[in-house]
Amino acid sequence: MDLLFSPADEQYRTRIRAWLSDNAGDLALIAKAEDPLQAARDWQRKMYEAGFVGLTWPKSCGGQEASLTQQVVLSEELAQARIPHLINGIALTTLGPTLIQHGTEQQRQRFLPGILSAKEIWCQGFSEPGAGSDLPSLTTRAVLDGDEFVVNGQKVWTSLAPIADWCFLLARTDPKAPKREGISYLLCDMKTPGVTVRPLRNAGGGFHFSEVFFEDVKIPRDNCVGEINGGWKIARSTLEHERSGLSGVVALEANLERQRQMAAKLKVGDKTALDKPGNRQKLAQYWIEIEGLRHLGYRALSDQLAGRPPGASASVGKLFSSRLRQKIAKTSLELAGPLAPVAKKSPHVIERGRLHAGYFDALGYSIGGGTSEIMHNTIAERILGLPRSTRDD
Ligand SMILES: Cc1cc2nc3c(=O)[nH]c(=O)nc-3n(C[C@H](O)[C@H](O)[C@H](O)COP(=O)(O)OP(=O)(O)OC[C@H]3O[C@@H](n4cnc5c(N)ncnc54)[C@H](O)[C@@H]3O)c2cc1C
Repeated sequence: MDLLFSPADEQYRTRIRAWLSDNAGDLALIAKAEDPLQAARDWQRKMYEAGFVGLTWPKSCGGQEASLTQQVVLSEELAQARIPHLINGIALTTLGPTLIQHGTEQQRQRFLPGILSAKEIWCQGFSEPGAGSDLPSLTTRAVLDGDEFVVNGQKVWTSLAPIADWCFLLARTDPKAPKREGISYLLCDMKTPGVTVRPLRNAGGGFHFSEVFFEDVKIPRDNCVGEINGGWKIARSTLEHERSGLSGVVALEANLERQRQMAAKLKVGDKTALDKPGNRQKLAQYWIEIEGLRHLGYRALSDQLAGRPPGASASVGKLFSSRLRQKIAKTSLELAGPLAPVAKKSPHVIERGRLHAGYFDALGYSIGGGTSEIMHNTIAERILGLPRSTRDD
């Protein structure tokens, strides 16, 4: 494993820093914009035009053909500068690479530019009320009628659905085939008649995800990615993209830094919360765990650079980072004590009154992208070589 970035990567880091110092001010203006959604689209487009979106994608697909290490450098610098996630992040990390790998030339030409520039925002319609961990049990039906699929069914926990222009979804096209062999991967315009989005309020009070209903929704046959009934293999590729990467290490670093700054300001008698040895121990421990996670990510990166598949290590990273995120969020509540629930409008508010919502949001990380129990199963079977779990495969 090589832990050093090359001189070219460090030069690239300098270039990003210079661009951010010239342009990150726009982000502050964007944050106050009247239409935050349009502002978020504008910010992504600006980053795309500067060459910082779709970094590792082929040039023929609108990317920069940069190296994986440059992608890591970019993620580190964006987190350091506390630049929020891009609005089309789901599509950029999952659908885009899937279309590059499995889409037709026509699909790539039609959809990749809108993903990169955020002209078209996407949501992921995989989970259903009876199909989450056991995704191949999905029952949303798509029947081919001439040149169109007619789709009926329901999706749930669909992030971004109310603002999404398009949805990439899985539907059953052959109910008689074994469950993994009768699924197709479809691209649906959310404005198509018969699509209904019903937002769900989560425990943190936000509307992060929704139910999406499909009633006789017509999707052109050309919007099927890969073969009809061949969607499961393609969905797996999307899920692998979802779990890969540096396991949110950069976001965790930002969380810990925010916590450190908060503890340094919170008064406990004539000292600050940061002066208390017990708190210092906790923050130091989280820093150590983040460093461990970073090196796990670097190992996976080294494997990828050497052409070796990252294997099940993405599951270790996902499991570890979601737990760590929850521990950090819980400590923030403990540090803030009675100030934690103070509302946004109060003069005593801290962290914009978001500590409780942040804690509840952190709980979701053990579920989204595959639950912790499923990560345990993967680690048990693929790393420890234990017998498979008895679930119906
Ligand atoms: C914040 C967030 C965002 C999300 N965004 C999206 C999205 O945009 N699009 C989308 O399609 N989905 C999304 N999801 C849904 C997510 O993928 C599912 O919630 C997840 O796959 C779990 O499925 P489930 O909720 O049906 O739970 P289930 O699969 O029913 O699991 C229930 C419980 O049983 C356990 N369990 C299940 N099977 C096993 C097993 N074999 N061994 C041991 N334990 C098991 C689980 O770990 C869990 O504790 C999101 C979820 C969250 C929390």
